[in-house]
Amino acid sequence: MIHKKRHILNLSGGKDSTALALHMRDKILEMEYVFCDTGEELRETYEYLDQVEAFLGKKIIRLNDRAGFDHWLKVFGGYLPGPRMRWCTKMLKLKPFENHVGDDPIISYVGIRADEDRVGYISTKENIETVYPFKDDGVDYNGVMKILQDSGIGLPPYMKWGRTHSGCYFCFFQQKIEWVRLLETYPEDFRKAQEFEKLSNEMGKTYTWIEGLPLRELRKKENIKKIKKQHKLREERFRKKRGNKKLVEVLAGIDEEEYRYRACLICQL
Ligand code: SF4
Repeated sequence: MIHKKRHILNLSGGKDSTALALHMRDKILEMEYVFCDTGEELRETYEYLDQVEAFLGKKIIRLNDRAGFDHWLKVFGGYLPGPRMRWCTKMLKLKPFENHVGDDPIISYVGIRADEDRVGYISTKENIETVYPFKDDGVDYNGVMKILQDSGIGLPPYMKWGRTHSGCYFCFFQQKIEWVRLLETYPEDFRKAQEFEKLSNEMGKTYTWIEGLPLRELRKKENIKKIKKQHKLREERFRKKRGNKKLVEVLAGIDEEEYRYRACLICQL
């Protein structure tokens, strides 16, 4: 029996996958829009997706692993996920996506832009063919901004308080300055993230989101001051180098440089 290919676009709550959904809306009418919800996402992501859903005029299918983060944390013996051990992406993002896909042949739409040269952590199942419409259509950073502005959807709202990427509030890919901003904006979420950490004198039994800097240390006044100062200096350096580019573009560029080879596409595009 020949199966007709399904078309699936995975939204992360980030600007690029959102712009891609808007870009594809009238091109592939049978597109399935999905969002893999870890249950620990930034609170603004949910509102943003509701807005996008209204614009698309189609339900965004919410996929989640029923067991949730706490369950998997226990399974992994309290070992917090990190860049070298991304069990969270695997169990809470990729698996629910692959379960939804099943064995059907599908085309998966990924929002890597024409001005990017990155690869990422995506599903490698044989029945999933991945395509990059922004690359094919020459849509770059400015193109994405234009799509978001023209639709009236705009940038994800968490960017207003300085979080640069979608994903979990405790995502280990965030910069120290973003942890500070989380503490100042949503102290409750910071506290929850802090509670997941385990400090121990026993060798190999300490689990923190940032290596060598537990959140209970990061939140101390003197450390916040230091992090803000370092961030300011970094911004200054980039401001000097910016040439004709607008500052916002330069800053977006720095963030993307930093994340490009590290982050998980399914969480943060
Ligand atoms: S956003 Fe970060 S913490 Fe959440 S699943 Fe993705 S990599 Fe893991």
